[in-house]
Amino acid sequence: MLEKWQEFLSKFKSLRSLRFRIFLLLVVVGTIPGFLMRYLILHSYEARAVEVQTSTVTTQMRIIANHLINYNYLQDTSSPVINAELEEMSSLYDGRVLIVNDYLKVVKDTYGISTGKTIISEEVVNCFNGNTATHYDEINGYIEMVIPIVATVQEDSIGVDIMGAGAKLNMKQNTTEQVMGVMLISISTDNIQTTLNLLNSRAEALQLIVIVVVIALAGFLSGLLVKPLNKVTKAIAEVKDGFSDSAINVPDYVETVHIVDAFNQLLRRMKILDDSRQEFVSNVSHELKTPITSMKVLADSLLMQPDAPVELYREFMEDIAKEIDRENTIITDLLSLVKMDKTAADLNITEVNINELTEIVCKRLRPIARKRNIEVTFESMRQVKASVDEVKISLVISNLVENAIKYNQEAGSVHVSLDADHQYFVLKVTDTGIGIPEESIHHIYERFYRVDKSHSREIGGTGLGLAITRSAVLMHRGFIDVESTPGVGSTFTVRIPLRYIMQEKKDVENKNHEM
Ligand code: ADP
Repeated sequence: MLEKWQEFLSKFKSLRSLRFRIFLLLVVVGTIPGFLMRYLILHSYEARAVEVQTSTVTTQMRIIANHLINYNYLQDTSSPVINAELEEMSSLYDGRVLIVNDYLKVVKDTYGISTGKTIISEEVVNCFNGNTATHYDEINGYIEMVIPIVATVQEDSIGVDIMGAGAKLNMKQNTTEQVMGVMLISISTDNIQTTLNLLNSRAEALQLIVIVVVIALAGFLSGLLVKPLNKVTKAIAEVKDGFSDSAINVPDYVETVHIVDAFNQLLRRMKILDDSRQEFVSNVSHELKTPITSMKVLADSLLMQPDAPVELYREFMEDIAKEIDRENTIITDLLSLVKMDKTAADLNITEVNINELTEIVCKRLRPIARKRNIEVTFESMRQVKASVDEVKISLVISNLVENAIKYNQEAGSVHVSLDADHQYFVLKVTDTGIGIPEESIHHIYERFYRVDKSHSREIGGTGLGLAITRSAVLMHRGFIDVESTPGVGSTFTVRIPLRYIMQEKKDVENKNHEM
């Protein structure tokens, strides 16, 4: 039912607007009391008018009934006084009067139709028992009344009063009332109806004016009430179209304040994202430009010396090749970072032996470490198997170990340890390197951030390694932390759930299916 109604509404778009609904509500609430009041007032007027009419006529009929008894009209209908009274009565109320005697015979009918006929009806019979009856026929517009014609009869009775020793005989007179006949009168209610019609037409005119005023007011008020919502839409549209990027403010309703607050929060978030995107793009361009600028300088200086020796050419070409390698590294890192920015649904989760993986990474990096006499050791507390993305976790380990080698002292050491509890495996990479100053510790995961730019560049750093590492750890719902003392060394600790990720992946997949 509700769905059908919604379907119907969707066909008429404007019917779904809040403004139309408020308009409708105001029109209904504004006009219904008018209808109700009109009905109630007219009805109570009618009831009251009928009551007054009935009681007036009843009083007059009772007076006439007394006259009837006095003039012995039930036996002899020739009394001109009574006949005149009855005629006057029927013409006054545009009605008809019937006088019925105790043989249920009509002795007088002001219409002259039923005189001499016998009437046997419930009301008449009841009336002989002293019950008056009134009936209002709304449709045909008349009131019918049945009134008893009552005579007071005096009866003599003899009683004996015993007083002391003697007794006294006394006569008593009792008065009783006796129904001698019945009066039936029907009067027209045309006068009531005429007044009712007049009142009704006036009420209709008044109501029409009220409806017009209510519609106009409802149109105006509905517009006024939805105005703040239109303001919100307009303000959002301005932001969307790029004319404004400042927070919007529509304090008219609590609801608009909530909507606007939510929108402003979204706007702030988008601004932060936009700022970081812009910063990223400018950083990327800068980083990519640096090797190109070096290559251009090297090439130009060669071109400026037409007879430069071959050795110089070789030396410069080697430098150019190094810059190309660097450009390549930056691009590779950037690609890794972009991949990391994708959702966790892109993780390729398999059961991985973390001990083996760490061992492989250490083995691969040992030759580089050996060049600077750095020793890389791996200590495994237990065998760890975890459900992780092997490529990404391998990148995490190699980035940390690589940094531990890169930022180490000559002949220093790197110690990698692996442990696990029932929930996480913990990988620690400790070095005896240069350490990280306290003020830089919070920035090292930022893209392109390097504590010492020139040193990092010298040793081939891009400033992207830890950003990639952190993204990979977060994708696995893990944690990364660092403790460092400048001049002494640093320890990076990574905690990754053993199985948690698998469930997360399923959740994501389920969500995707649902969508
Ligand atoms: P990079 O490619 O420059 O190494 P990273 O994102 O891996 O970039 O690291 C960011 C910065 O953090 C590095 O430039 C370096 O200054 C600092 N850093 C990272 N690891 C270590 C470490 N083990 N010891 C000292 N400093 C480090």
